[in-house]
Amino acid sequence: MSRPSSLDPLFASLSGMKGVGPQISKLFNRFLASGEGQDALVLDLLMHMPSQMVDRRRMDGVAAAEPGEIATLRLHIDAHRPPPRGKPQVPHRVLAHDETGDIDLVFFRAEGGWVEKSLPVGEVRFVSGRIAAFNGGRQMAHPDYIVAEDRLETLPLVEPVYPVTHGLSSKLVLKLIRQAVGRIPALPEWIPPARLSGSGWPGFPEALRRAHLPTEPGEADLAAPARMRLAYDEYLAGQLALLIVRSELAGPRGKARQLTGLISAKVEAALPFDLTAGQRAAIADIFADLHKPERMSRLVQGDVGAGKTVVALMAMAAVAETGAQSALMAPTEILATQHYRSLEPSARAAGLSIRLVTGKMPAAEKRAALAAIESGDAQIIVGTHALFQQQVAFHDLALAVVDEQHRFGVHQRLALNAKSAHADLLVMTATPIPRSLVLTHFGDMAVSILKEKPKGRQPIETATIAADDVDRLVARVKAQLDQGAQAFWICPLVEESEVVDLVSAEDRFNALKPIFGDRIALVHGRMSAADKDAAMGRFQSGDAQLLVATTVVEVGVDVPKATIIVIEHAERFGLAQLHQLRGRVGRGRDKSFCVLLYAEPLSLLARERLKTIRGTDDGFVIAEKDLELRGPGDVLGTRQSGMPGYRLAVPDVHRHLLELAHEDALAIMAHNPGLTGPEGLALRGLLYVFRKDLAIPLIHAG
Ligand code: ADP
Ligand code: MG
Repeated sequence: MSRPSSLDPLFASLSGMKGVGPQISKLFNRFLASGEGQDALVLDLLMHMPSQMVDRRRMDGVAAAEPGEIATLRLHIDAHRPPPRGKPQVPHRVLAHDETGDIDLVFFRAEGGWVEKSLPVGEVRFVSGRIAAFNGGRQMAHPDYIVAEDRLETLPLVEPVYPVTHGLSSKLVLKLIRQAVGRIPALPEWIPPARLSGSGWPGFPEALRRAHLPTEPGEADLAAPARMRLAYDEYLAGQLALLIVRSELAGPRGKARQLTGLISAKVEAALPFDLTAGQRAAIADIFADLHKPERMSRLVQGDVGAGKTVVALMAMAAVAETGAQSALMAPTEILATQHYRSLEPSARAAGLSIRLVTGKMPAAEKRAALAAIESGDAQIIVGTHALFQQQVAFHDLALAVVDEQHRFGVHQRLALNAKSAHADLLVMTATPIPRSLVLTHFGDMAVSILKEKPKGRQPIETATIAADDVDRLVARVKAQLDQGAQAFWICPLVEESEVVDLVSAEDRFNALKPIFGDRIALVHGRMSAADKDAAMGRFQSGDAQLLVATTVVEVGVDVPKATIIVIEHAERFGLAQLHQLRGRVGRGRDKSFCVLLYAEPLSLLARERLKTIRGTDDGFVIAEKDLELRGPGDVLGTRQSGMPGYRLAVPDVHRHLLELAHEDALAIMAHNPGLTGPEGLALRGLLYVFRKDLAIPLIHAG
């Protein structure tokens, strides 16, 4: 059953709206779309919640407006006092009054005569902005709104403020939101009557309207009925989808796995090191799972450098003993290639056939790899999530290992299921994920934790250095490289940017190239896969000693010989990211160094972050501090956190609703698992609206 056409207005592309040209539409696609390469939809816009409400309803005149307050005034414009010629630093003043008093409107560096045009002498204008005291009187600098009397309705008396990306404005978002709110179709109520009655919650369309365009700012409060309802809706959709998927994916595998231990023993013998106790325990957990008749769903959690990859290799070796295949999926091609290179020697030594598949490999090579996967010749397949694409046909996929990918949610599981209905799942992550989150996003996953790092690791020495000192740093790095060391040099951007004054990877590369000559390589996200590969390959082989890179090397890149990492503009990075980046060194026996270059002035928050990262190397401590610094509301909800995010629910405020949604979803699945009848129809609408519709084909009637 396809999506009801009544929902079409919500699924229209934003590019079709008034005021959205190609440029703006591109920005929105990047900022709001639910997936890469997808269009931002009216629905995505409606799910983009304001961060704040500005109350402009104070309209009782100049005399009553207190300094510091936001007021909206109906003013007679009396005179203009532009800055004297040649003195552009003097502000342009506009004298105005209403029945209660006088006020100056002040504009700094207002060129081009627009102030005169928008505030004509002798006319009346509504202006809204923050009141300030000045020379015993009142002034307002740069009003937020100036509108003619007959256009008062365009001045939002309760104004939502939206988080935006560079190039978009909150005002533009508001303009589009006004159009979008008008397009919300009537939808059948999906909240169970027992939950709705007495709650005081409005219907879904009304809740969205109040959240965006409240008549009273309080209507849009996180704890007000509208936002409570929307949060509950989001949780209910998630829980329902999870239960549907779980009922499909859980349960018996239908295939017993007969492990012999022969191949995994060979792999272990071929490893250049002894497994740690933690690795052994995790491997034992996995083998026990594989023996069981149920499908495995396990998370291996271990800090950066803990050695998760070899745990995966042992699991894949065990699966090979049963004659079946395993796939290891990494988030980027760089990582996939690296995994392949690092696993290949031990795998081959144990007689395993291992294959790499990347998106951009030469066609002939790819065809050969795909053929080997289809025939079953390939026992271990390494790639990115492209392995789930249609053209990849597995002979007998029994185990999927997902590396460093927290977004392995419902959709990905379904795609995996389509490849193999009996495949086991192993997810590897460096991010400590709270148990409640594991439950809501992965379903019931068992967790193995790698607590200790491999023996012989030395702590990484971390220093913070002001950007002015970069020349001395370069000299010291050069001295180390002369002695054979390898170093990463991380920059936040690819190209020089006009808007922010940051050093880009390309700039840094060009500046360092004369000093380091052939020993330097560059890698960033905008290079072709082949160029990236070549640069990484040179660094991995030791041919290049200095790798200038963007955060493409953030997760998982493993070059044990590299002992130095310089992170430029460290003040721009979040704690988790700094920890991940630093984790690129300290992977071998040699002492490693991390240099955090920062540009003044440092915000308090940045200062605190740098202090934390300098003070500890413990991923759990850092994760906790991260939560603390980012504060409530931003803990799990954002995209940057790398967690599957909620758009409407704010876990800190709405967590109790998750429990309710969980109970309700269980009850619904118990009495109406086929989602039939009017109730089922409404709930399917809910799944569509919250983009959980991939679960819909799984619904079994009765
Ligand atoms: P992560 O957990 O961050 O994915 P990796 O699996 O990349 O860590 O391992 C980090 C480094 O530690 C690799 O170079 C790997 O070969 C090495 N390593 C893994 N296990 C051990 C061990 N038991 N003893 C020594 N080195 C190990
Ligand atoms: Mg890893």
